[in-house]
Amino acid sequence: MPERTPIIAGNWKMHRDHLEAIQLVQKLAYHLGEEDYEGQEIVVCPPFVALRSIQTLIQSDKLPIGLGAQTCHDEDEGAFTGEISAPMLARLDVRYVLCGHSERRAMFGETNEVVNRKLRAVQRHGMRPILCVGESLEQREGGDAVDVVVDQLRGSLDGISIADASELVVAYEPVWAIGTGRNATPQDAQEMCAAIRTEVGELYGAGTAEGLRVQYGGSVKPGNVRDLMGQPDIDGALVGGASLSSEDFALIVGHRRH
Ligand code: PEP
Repeated sequence: MPERTPIIAGNWKMHRDHLEAIQLVQKLAYHLGEEDYEGQEIVVCPPFVALRSIQTLIQSDKLPIGLGAQTCHDEDEGAFTGEISAPMLARLDVRYVLCGHSERRAMFGETNEVVNRKLRAVQRHGMRPILCVGESLEQREGGDAVDVVVDQLRGSLDGISIADASELVVAYEPVWAIGTGRNATPQDAQEMCAAIRTEVGELYGAGTAEGLRVQYGGSVKPGNVRDLMGQPDIDGALVGGASLSSEDFALIVGHRRH
């Protein structure tokens, strides 16, 4: 079985201007020890306006932290007022781009088709998508959670090659757990992450499925990260609120030694 390098990413959403962002990453680096960087990837996804500052900080301080963006447009350039393209992000050394976060699906009308185009744009420019999927509370209570997530996966991955699928990270984020303080139980999260791996196996074969990194996201905190990350099919965490505190995010990243 291939070793999967865990990946812990902080999604800052629309929080922190570029000066606050610098401070947050500096404090995070202060709290982290060398061993925290070993055998896992650490990523921060600040707002667009802070990307250049954080790129410079990462370079100048030689921080082993990856830069991520929260979304991008699917066209490379054009008359799309207010939008940011994948090549612009690639020029800033952005390594990961969140695609199809539930807030974008719910508030900005991103369908699976749109998410699919964004995935392609990200991969066209040598970056890796973190494809976000997850069911609502109503869908879970109705017993449809797995069907909904499988449907999001299939739609978002339509026509994506095996080579591109093997670069992908999938984040399972139940909508009812995001920003609510109510995380999925490790067992429920494991079950869905295993179902995601099975579906990717159906689509791309066992090798791709075994190499796929699946994150859990939804109210991850220092107190629950270890049980979640201890599950066999959970290879990382996508962290919202708790990533805005350097102490909490450092505890989450350093969960192996706390
Ligand atoms: C998120 O927005 O991706 C997220 C998981 O948020 P929170 O950790 O705050 O639930």
